[in-house]
Amino acid sequence: PIPFSLFIALFFLSMALIRRNAVDHFMAETDPLTRLANRRKFDEAFNEEWNRCQRLGSPLSLIMADVDHFKQYNDTYGHKAGDLCLCRIAEILQSHTRRTGELAVRYGGEEFTLLFPHLDAASAFELAETIRNAIGQPAKDKATRGGREITISLGIATTIPTNGQKPEDLLLKADKAMYEAKRAGRNRAVAWPPAASGV
Ligand code: GH3
Ligand code: MG
Ligand code: MG
Repeated sequence: PIPFSLFIALFFLSMALIRRNAVDHFMAETDPLTRLANRRKFDEAFNEEWNRCQRLGSPLSLIMADVDHFKQYNDTYGHKAGDLCLCRIAEILQSHTRRTGELAVRYGGEEFTLLFPHLDAASAFELAETIRNAIGQPAKDKATRGGREITISLGIATTIPTNGQKPEDLLLKADKAMYEAKRAGRNRAVAWPPAASGV
């Protein structure tokens, strides 16, 4: 028979390995600076929610957000201030993803993506505007961004998933809408398709 002490040792070793695994898994799907989900986590969640919305015939909205003139911000106030600014933006984005399946993602650099299953085009546009205003507000704690102006441009895309579409197409549409927001002067939200189309 296994000595009791060996049994205890094996038990604690297994627990440590399980914990280690959970930590590794979390780290692999988390952006280290902002603690938001990273792109890898997004790809996984997006596919899952896409399939769920398709089964339910429910709309799915993506919002892409890119910080305006962020290179200039870094050049003027320094990279460290830029990092703090990204963290503050991440916090605001996170605070707007409360329901099951909703996810705020650092997509890369100063670009963020938000996943909203079961949200129609009109509501997604309204939400994008709420987020844009929240980020444009001067921070209460000025130290977190040096009390300086920061704005974002947002692109929104909504669809009811079907077999004929690919998730990547929706991402592309949100990206196109975001670039349209930049082109039109920044600090605004642009939707694809227009809210009037009734999706
Ligand atoms: P636009 O309004 O067209 O988006 O202009 P922009 O300056 O924001 O865009 P551009 O792509 O030219 O520059 C992005 C900048 O974001 C450059 C890069 O240094 C900065 N950036 C990306 N990731 C980080 C980061 O992790 N920390 C900091 N501090 N800056 C970052
Ligand atoms: Mg930018
Ligand atoms: Mg960018």
